[in-house]
Amino acid sequence: MIPPHPITIIGGGLAGLTLGIGLRQRGVPVTVWEAGRYPRHRVCGEFISGGGQGSLARLGLLSGLQTAGAGSAASAAFFAGKSLVAARPLPAAALCVSRFVLDDWLAREFQRLGGELRSGARWSGEFGPGVVRASGRRVEPVAAGWRLFGLKVHARGVALDADLEMHFVPAGYVGLCRLPGGEVNICGLFRSAAPVPDLAQRWRDWLGGPADSVLHARLVGAEFVDDSFCSVAGLGLRPQRAAQRHECSVGDALTMIPPVTGNGMSMAFESAELATGPLAKFSRGEVTWAQAQQAIARDCDGAFTARLRWAAWLQRALFQPSARAALLFLAARSEWLWRGIFVRTR
Ligand SMILES: Cc1cc2nc3c(=O)[nH]c(=O)nc-3n(C[C@H](O)[C@H](O)[C@H](O)COP(=O)(O)OP(=O)(O)OC[C@H]3O[C@@H](n4cnc5c(N)ncnc54)[C@H](O)[C@@H]3O)c2cc1C
Repeated sequence: MIPPHPITIIGGGLAGLTLGIGLRQRGVPVTVWEAGRYPRHRVCGEFISGGGQGSLARLGLLSGLQTAGAGSAASAAFFAGKSLVAARPLPAAALCVSRFVLDDWLAREFQRLGGELRSGARWSGEFGPGVVRASGRRVEPVAAGWRLFGLKVHARGVALDADLEMHFVPAGYVGLCRLPGGEVNICGLFRSAAPVPDLAQRWRDWLGGPADSVLHARLVGAEFVDDSFCSVAGLGLRPQRAAQRHECSVGDALTMIPPVTGNGMSMAFESAELATGPLAKFSRGEVTWAQAQQAIARDCDGAFTARLRWAAWLQRALFQPSARAALLFLAARSEWLWRGIFVRTR
């Protein structure tokens, strides 16, 4: 019998580790290369909304994750400046979990299943047959004239009206998400036409909102967990099609969805699940690498193309003050519109 072809995954974030777990469950030899080390904080709203929860459940990971520290979010509120524009039950509950816990838990689960994890190891080789790119966002320093960057920090002593609060500020939006254990995750996406220096010193100015905003009032008495602060720049949110990628890619390496949807982690889990079957077939010699890659690209494009289009439209509207005001006004009054936007962006 021919031994199974090993799979090498570049990137031990959510997509890479979930794919590694799925492949190990099918007996495929897998090595994950991860440039960083665990546990570590990541820029993320830490709010998992959408079909990725189903992917985790089918992989048998959901209950273990809940035991490890994932909570549930059932409500969301939206604020623009001084005013509350809408508070709503979520049409479907989300999972809330710190990336410090989540990535570490998945890494240990992957190793428990016999996967080889090379942490602190940056891959600089080719992406040929058997090598999957799960290395996160492709850096885009300037996107349509704007520099997009993200900031995140945890804090204690922040009282919220809902499990998730979204605050719209002149340069972007900031999500406050309740985490199990009493901490709140504060995560923002911002855009700037000019380079933004000193983020490590000035993050409180960006995440704190204008002086007269509800966001500012929320964070006045916050006790920040300083070592949880992290930032990321060079984000590109233009939808990409898997069929146009030359490499076999999953997660953000395939395409990013605007963070306001809270669906990026879900797409990482979903794309990993979609890739597992074709890669296992390749490993057993049942299909060629090109066939496996095409099957994964077809399934990912089928699952993501429409949602990415809606999410891009939503992101554009939220960055234009008049369109944003109209959208929030209407969504506050129309359950049909609120549900429609929610369902189509995940
Ligand atoms: C501001 C902001 C807020 C967000 N909020 C949310 C949210 O609330 N909900 C949500 O679902 N999503 C959110 N997201 C998106 C979410 O964080 C991503 O979609 C998710 O992390 C993608 O997972 P991934 O595994 O594809 O990439 P990553 O988690 O980025 O993992 C990629 C990994 O690859 C490693 N790597 C890269 N290159 C190499 C190399 N050459 N060799 C070895 N290792 C390498 C990196 O170290 C990294 O660990 C947000 C994103 C931003 C920017």
